[in-house]
Amino acid sequence: MERPPLHSHAPNSSAPTPLESHAKARFSARFAGINTRHYSNLTLQLLAKAYPRVCPDCRVPMTTPVARRESVVRCGDCHRQASLTAGTPLHHFKLPLWVFGYLLSEAMTTFPQMISAAQIRRRLGVSKSTSLLLKRRLQLFLTDLVPVIKERMAGDLQKEFAGLVLPANSDVSKVVRGKPVVHMDTLALFSATQRANGGRSRHRHSGQTASIYLTEKVAEERGKFQIGTLVHTIAIKQGPVILDSVPGVAQKNVQPLFSFLPQQTPTFTDDGYPWLSRYNRNHRAVNHSARAKDKKRNVWARNRWSRGGVHNQVAEGTQRIVKASFLAAYGYFNPKFSQLYLNEYSALKSIRVYGLESLLKSPIVSIVDPKYSGSPAGDLKPTPPDFLRRKIAENQYIPPTIEERGFLDNQNSRRQIRGKLRDLFNDNDFFEAKQAHVDYLNFWQDAPRWKRQHERQYGAIARKLWTVLSRRESALLSNIASKYELSHTLLVRIAREWSRLNIAEVQELKRSSTQDGKLRVWVRRRIDILPDLLYSWDMERYTAADKPIPDTVAELPKRERVGGSGMSAAKRNQFIEEMMR
Ligand SMILES: [Zn+2]
Repeated sequence: MERPPLHSHAPNSSAPTPLESHAKARFSARFAGINTRHYSNLTLQLLAKAYPRVCPDCRVPMTTPVARRESVVRCGDCHRQASLTAGTPLHHFKLPLWVFGYLLSEAMTTFPQMISAAQIRRRLGVSKSTSLLLKRRLQLFLTDLVPVIKERMAGDLQKEFAGLVLPANSDVSKVVRGKPVVHMDTLALFSATQRANGGRSRHRHSGQTASIYLTEKVAEERGKFQIGTLVHTIAIKQGPVILDSVPGVAQKNVQPLFSFLPQQTPTFTDDGYPWLSRYNRNHRAVNHSARAKDKKRNVWARNRWSRGGVHNQVAEGTQRIVKASFLAAYGYFNPKFSQLYLNEYSALKSIRVYGLESLLKSPIVSIVDPKYSGSPAGDLKPTPPDFLRRKIAENQYIPPTIEERGFLDNQNSRRQIRGKLRDLFNDNDFFEAKQAHVDYLNFWQDAPRWKRQHERQYGAIARKLWTVLSRRESALLSNIASKYELSHTLLVRIAREWSRLNIAEVQELKRSSTQDGKLRVWVRRRIDILPDLLYSWDMERYTAADKPIPDTVAELPKRERVGGSGMSAAKRNQFIEEMMR
């Protein structure tokens, strides 16, 4: 290729502003169809608004352009020069400035379709590493916008809801109609389950968290543990959305994410946030797995998706779009960079809602670090060369180690346990109760119908007993038995089981020590909710108490441990191969 003669104008006549380097001019010449002048102005405006320069000597804004150097401005008073890009996401930007404005505009118009590094590469005909760096620059700029967006959201919510208290037990739909209620949820991206299942998630919340991690063994072999990304969504209907990459859905992972919201913001979630009501009395949850009261006809409750005007469809709609966008554009990304991708999405969505102009009303960085101001060639030695790398590292997501996640502990059981109980079972005092409850859940999945029927009867008696007991004082079981016409023997058995599991306090006075020769048993609840437990198996053993019990009966049948993702070993290995490439 022939070098254009020195001092010639750029071949692209639509860009009369001379560019400072011939490499840049040659690059721009390839894009005759793009209004490069428009986009370079856009970039310049963005930089000036978001990262304004102030003369360190005169303390006035540096806004005067410098001929032939598009990314340099100077002080109108002392003529000191400064780079517009140093210390910003465009630090050491080697391409013409229009490229950035062009990419941002494209990203804004195609949203919710995302532009991948591969697409940037094809469009601009640049190398793989250049296109990836461009993508990161775009992500860093949009990441810088996220705090601005949060502040805006918080301000709007404060204005809308100050002093509001939602009615406790009645329909809230009238109160919140048309208002920016906050909806929260989580979704898994690039999970093992999803891949194995053709991109669809199988069950909400069942193993969702587990599915983004490799099994312990494979993780040790590969030196990698987390492969997918778990996304926490905070969304407002037809409004902004904030996405965060989290290692799990425990309170400690999730709660800090919405600390930017005003205290009592009306917030709708599913039942995965049992602790939230303690902090926010305007929190409402809808129970997606609610069972119907009339079990003969309907397995699921009709109102399980929406109850009293509380629903989570906004978060779920958001999730569907987020998922589709990410899967279509990227196929996969390393969780390490997940937060950058999520910020990109959040910011683009919010630009749609608020407009870029409006978000950049005040600068993102009001005074750029003095080491980035002043003459780039002059006295102030600028810029650590690794500025960008540092900036990317600051926004990296750090996946948990195997130990941190306590992986084996929950992959099989915790996901099935209802929210309220899950918190309770975290307490070591209730380890036995947790095991018993897991046994119950397993039993319920695969026991024959007649056995379940049987169990249901005992369960009903147990629940009846539970409701008439209190936490404050002990009740005498024989009184309850006669009042509600229940079998005293059965009640005693049930109470003893609760005592064994530490969920009730039981005191007995043996027949031999009572005047009338009758057993006296007092019971007091130790917790608020009764976990579902198995009673019938024990009952049968007790009812047959006269006969000697063979040793083999004393053990529950051992259950096969089922892996978290439902993949075969071969499939999993194949999947990991794919992921590691
Ligand atoms: Zn000056």
